[in-house]
Amino acid sequence: MLNWKGAGAPLVDAHVHLHEDPSMSNEVDVIVAVSDDLESSKKTLEMNAIKCIGVHPWSVEEASEKDLIEIESLIENADCLGEVGLDNRYVRNKEKARRFFEAFLRMSREYDVPLNLHALDAWREVFDLLIKYDIKRAYFHWYNGPLDLLEEIVGQGYFIGINAAIDIQRKHLKVLQATPLKAILTESDGPYNYRGVVLRPSRVRKLIGIISSDKGVSEEDVKNAVFLNLVRWLGKYPRIGGP
Ligand SMILES: [Zn+2]
Repeated sequence: MLNWKGAGAPLVDAHVHLHEDPSMSNEVDVIVAVSDDLESSKKTLEMNAIKCIGVHPWSVEEASEKDLIEIESLIENADCLGEVGLDNRYVRNKEKARRFFEAFLRMSREYDVPLNLHALDAWREVFDLLIKYDIKRAYFHWYNGPLDLLEEIVGQGYFIGINAAIDIQRKHLKVLQATPLKAILTESDGPYNYRGVVLRPSRVRKLIGIISSDKGVSEEDVKNAVFLNLVRWLGKYPRIGGP
């Protein structure tokens, strides 16, 4: 671990909207910061975190093609693209959402940067597009899709986000049970408000305990596995701590 000086394996939160509340940055050892639009992408690039830029499917409606061009011009300073993807539950303009997502798929391929994906009720569609675009590294944030598709995702070497809301979202436990440790990334989606609970990176600590009991391995082994998954998803060792 390049410059990891802490005791034990680092605690990872692989999906945080850090630009919304930078005070969350000290709650875990490694944060992957995602963006929602051009403006937040610029903010994310200033954060002390692993940096994903992009346009969230919920923000596509207000975004312009010019925003896409500008985001592409910032890509050399970013580590990943996110939060990008499709959403068949809440997004009405599906055609525009698809056009934007396909632009990010092309960028992922062209610049060899991994994807931090939103795929709510569009799990299969997003997976098929990853295959079509020959995407090497992708992570399905807060996966709640079908379990047979989960097997295909893992078989492809992609990653599954297990969210800290698992203690209040029962169905997510089935996803954890079906996901091997080698494919798990831990996350909070902070500061998202889920059923009246504000999700924050600090909740990942408890999540590690839940994964540890489900998989029958120590918490230290869970943290180590998740960190190695993060390195494989990123395609490099992250810089941790320091300016
Ligand atoms: Zn998110």
